[in-house]
Amino acid sequence: MGRKAVYTAPNELRELQARLKEKEAEITMLTEVTDVIGSEYRLQKVFDLVAARAFDLLGAETVTIPILASDQKSYCYRAACGVNAEELRFAELPIEVGICGWVLRNRKPWWKGVLDQLDGCNRNKWEQEAGNLILVPLVGKRQFLGGIACINKIGEDNFNAHDFDLLGMFANQVSIAIENAMFFEELNAAKQSSEAYREKLAESNRKLLLSNEELQHFALHDPLTELPNRTLMLDRLQQGILTAKRNRHTLALIMIDLDHFKEVNDTLGHSVGDALLVGVGERFQSTLREPDTLGRLGGDEFAVVLPQADREAALTVVGKLQAALQRPLEIDHNNFSVAASMGIAVYPEHGNDPSKLLKSADVAMYIAKRNRDEYAIYNIEHDSYNPNRLELLNDLRAAIQQREIGIAFQPKLDLRRQIITGVEVLARWTHPTRGAIPPTDFIPVLEQTGLIKTFTLQILEKAVSYCKLFQDKGYQLGVAINLSMHNLRDENLPAQIATILDRYHLDKQFLMLEITESAIMHDPELSLDILTQLNKMGLQLSVDDFGTGYSSLSYLKRLPVQQLKIDHSFVSDMMGDKDDAMIVRSTIDLAHNLGLNTVAEGVETQEVLDRLTEIKCDHAQGFLISRPLSLDDFMSYLLAGEWEVSTFSEVKEAGRDY
Ligand code: C2E
Ligand code: CA
Ligand code: CA
Repeated sequence: MGRKAVYTAPNELRELQARLKEKEAEITMLTEVTDVIGSEYRLQKVFDLVAARAFDLLGAETVTIPILASDQKSYCYRAACGVNAEELRFAELPIEVGICGWVLRNRKPWWKGVLDQLDGCNRNKWEQEAGNLILVPLVGKRQFLGGIACINKIGEDNFNAHDFDLLGMFANQVSIAIENAMFFEELNAAKQSSEAYREKLAESNRKLLLSNEELQHFALHDPLTELPNRTLMLDRLQQGILTAKRNRHTLALIMIDLDHFKEVNDTLGHSVGDALLVGVGERFQSTLREPDTLGRLGGDEFAVVLPQADREAALTVVGKLQAALQRPLEIDHNNFSVAASMGIAVYPEHGNDPSKLLKSADVAMYIAKRNRDEYAIYNIEHDSYNPNRLELLNDLRAAIQQREIGIAFQPKLDLRRQIITGVEVLARWTHPTRGAIPPTDFIPVLEQTGLIKTFTLQILEKAVSYCKLFQDKGYQLGVAINLSMHNLRDENLPAQIATILDRYHLDKQFLMLEITESAIMHDPELSLDILTQLNKMGLQLSVDDFGTGYSSLSYLKRLPVQQLKIDHSFVSDMMGDKDDAMIVRSTIDLAHNLGLNTVAEGVETQEVLDRLTEIKCDHAQGFLISRPLSLDDFMSYLLAGEWEVSTFSEVKEAGRDY
């Protein structure tokens, strides 16, 4: 039936059916095309696709895609297909030029009908081309984009109305895809430029950091030799000392001064002098190992910080440094021999802060130079060259002659019985013009001279006489005095002590001698000798500032002492510092294991006192219990009864080890 109907259909119907089919095919094709184009986001690809499809769709000889520039003043064929495509592609034209220009200016499609809108003078020229060309605008959702131009239909015909409609439909379909791709491209460009910006920022940041580093390098290095300068050396020294302190090891500082450098500089000129300094710096540097720091302090002065080094290690390095100068240095084809004087100072023995250590090394270097030696190790006696000290020494001598050095008493508390069982006698000197001078300042001066012996005997006599006085008043108190390193070398000391004790009829067991751990360790064998003698006499011996002097356990076992006095630096921090708390605790355990008793010095808070009691420290001394007091104040203190005081009426339980 259907067949029959078709068969019998009039021509008109057939034609209609044919057109419908054609339309369907066109729509399918258009949809396909837009699908392909719509899924493409690379703009150039989109333009190329649009041109190629329009070319197929319209059967044109040439297709171009003129796109308006963002300033709207020109357009560019972003794609072209067919005849002359190569020349047309990417050609840029002002908006005033050509039919494309007209379309873009007027935002209207071009076809034959346009001719009617032209004035007479243009008409002939336009009329010639008009039949062979259709041009439709591309309009996006947000903006006018440009157009699609089809030039010359392949074959005889001109473009017809159908072609015009078809191209219009096609343009509508693809313009959104074009606009999206354009937007995407813009976005990408923006992204890229922001990335470029970020990159640029990072780059300038890098440069800034670099120049900062350069600046810092400049501030901390000597520009001539490139070695660390004084500032950096001081910093290294400070760091080194802190580490040495923490890890309880030594550190050495070597100060180096070139001999006759000034003469070289003056006679041969600065450039030779400079080259010499650079050469010497390089020679020195080549002898050193990683942790050692060589620096130039200024002029012809160099210094080396040797972390962890002791005297022996420092001497080895000095040997290497001197050997490095054995071969002459060649400058401008001339050979120069350089000699240097070196001074060694070791932490903590010769100073426990950077400036003290530098000063000591400087003094040692000066001595080496003066004695024409290659090196000298700092020695306290060197310091007598200090004029300030000389002046002090004269006054001190006078004070000792006039017996003007006073004493203060600081009680020691027995922690188990909670009673005062003894006092430490501390020297006090009030200078007529300078006022009170701390013992740490004047005792080293006395140690450099023979005066320390007389001084110690004076203190001893006062201490013994007052101890006897307290005992006569019924207080069962012992007394402790401090001995200095030089007292340990004095063979007469034991006999002199015995004489004084006899004179005041004080039982020997009530006198305690405190000797610092570092004084003992200065000459361990000699110390052992004299301590043994003193111990045999029945005196009490205490190792003062224990923990700061590096004695070994095996040595400690041989020492004939009764007491370890834990240095205040550990005690004062023990509540806040775990390491210190551990040191205090293990020192107490160690002492007890060796049959020794312990005193914690520098007890300033109740908290510390309680903790010490808890961990079975035997005695405590410090500001909490009492500051060092004058005789009168001490007598009042005893009477005030803040703490109970050991008296002879008590059971003589632990009288000895106060
Ligand atoms: P040292 O023998 O360790 O004496 C303890 C020092 O710590 C004393 O300083 C004392 O006043 C101070 N002190 C006591 N309790 C506390 C406290 O709770 N906190 C703090 N921060 N300090 C406290 P001083 O009297 O200035 O004596 C300093 C050093 O001088 C003594 O240290 C001792 O080595 C030496 N010295 C003092 N008198 C003599 C003496 O007659 N002969 C000798 N050879 N040396 C002496
Ligand atoms: Ca002491
Ligand atoms: Ca001490």
